[in-house]
Amino acid sequence: MNQHTAPNDISAVVEADRRHVWHHLTQHKPYETSDPRVIIEGRGMRVWDATGKEILDAVSGGVWTVNIGYGRESMANVIRDQVLKLNYFAGAAGTVPGALFAERLVGKMPGMSRVFYSNSGSEANEKVWKMIRQISHRHHGGRKAKILFRERDYHGTTFGTLSAGGHAQRNAQYGPFVPGFVEVPHCLEYRSQWGAIENYGERAADAIEAVILREGPDTVGGLCLEPITAGGGAIVPPAGYWERVQEICRRYEILLHIDEVVCGMGRTGTWFGYQHYGVEPDFVTMAKGVASGYAAISCTVTSEAVFDHFKDDADDPLSFFRDISTFGGCTSGPAAALENMRILEDENLLENSARMGDRLLANLQGLMEKHAVVGEARGKGLFAGLELVADRTTKEPVPEAMVKAVVAECMANGVMIGAQNRSLAGGMNNALLFAPALIATKDDIDAITDCVDHALGRVFTH
Ligand code: PLP
Repeated sequence: MNQHTAPNDISAVVEADRRHVWHHLTQHKPYETSDPRVIIEGRGMRVWDATGKEILDAVSGGVWTVNIGYGRESMANVIRDQVLKLNYFAGAAGTVPGALFAERLVGKMPGMSRVFYSNSGSEANEKVWKMIRQISHRHHGGRKAKILFRERDYHGTTFGTLSAGGHAQRNAQYGPFVPGFVEVPHCLEYRSQWGAIENYGERAADAIEAVILREGPDTVGGLCLEPITAGGGAIVPPAGYWERVQEICRRYEILLHIDEVVCGMGRTGTWFGYQHYGVEPDFVTMAKGVASGYAAISCTVTSEAVFDHFKDDADDPLSFFRDISTFGGCTSGPAAALENMRILEDENLLENSARMGDRLLANLQGLMEKHAVVGEARGKGLFAGLELVADRTTKEPVPEAMVKAVVAECMANGVMIGAQNRSLAGGMNNALLFAPALIATKDDIDAITDCVDHALGRVFTH
């Protein structure tokens, strides 16, 4: 009996799953008539399902979360010890891991100084927008309340975050949305809105300014961007983009919110994605890699200048940030986050992410030479994407079903990769996505891209 053997009653588990679990992002009719997969165990870069099948995980738990890999004993120990000591306390009292992690975290983020805890990326983003709205009420007479977001960026599933959602298909059927959110154009040069131009990065940033001028600068309070767009197709901003964005925000006194829910904690080879570009944000949010999925924790981090807007004003009993997240008081979150950070540092996982990311991107770019269906390979550190097109000249996207077929072929061969999943309108769900754990070795990276090579051959020549 191998160590990954499922419990004896696994068929009862499969049946319970089939009958009672409403799965995330899943079309249930095909799911229930297929053979549902139950994942039993994870170790390092690999997981095992109930049949004993070993799967090399190139997406860190499905949605780019398990940055330090599965099965870390020290994480289990830290969480256990903290839960036994004090599992929970919320409100205006401090806790040991809450205080220590906040201090360690802002130490990695020059210019930032305050951490507000909650437990999902959506929630962390909502906190920022509530803060911006409150600043608007307190300091701008209710003006500067609009929040800009970008086409192809994603910020979560709540009504607020869907209202700032640049994924049209995800939003379909859930409106009406929260007012005061305005979309700006994407910055994917491969699909340039202005044809082939030299200074695409600056032009794409200027398109944000055009929206600000159209709306009226005195109505716009915040701009929310992913540092590198993840689920919208692995979009690495073009040269000159971020510098111009910062300039525009300063010119119009617009607070800059960077959503690091995916890119934070070493995913792209630096602690945070924005640190590649020398940007100075007012708000940074993070979630997935903060405790690598060992505990649920998200953080809204702000500068002291932002925090100063909320310091108690004795004449105004409503001057503070009147917000709480019940489970933001779970101490296992920051305790796990401290250990997660220790592991990232002690094992040099940021450097590994950068090095293995270069290898992943080079391998994916190599696939362009073999497969006409590969339109572009993009990425930074260990987040990468491969855009598949029916024709390289017209850049017509391949149908989403073909992208899913590549994912299924890889899974059949023991490698789990990802793809856009009914997110963008206009047939633009044509990118494969990769985000392996930051512990990936050269052999892991090569095994992933070899499998994709094989799958592209199978799907597009049969
Ligand atoms: N922001 C980004 C960039 C994301 O990719 C996600 C989720 O994938 C979120 C926010 C939402 O995070 P959560 O699912 O934890 O609410």
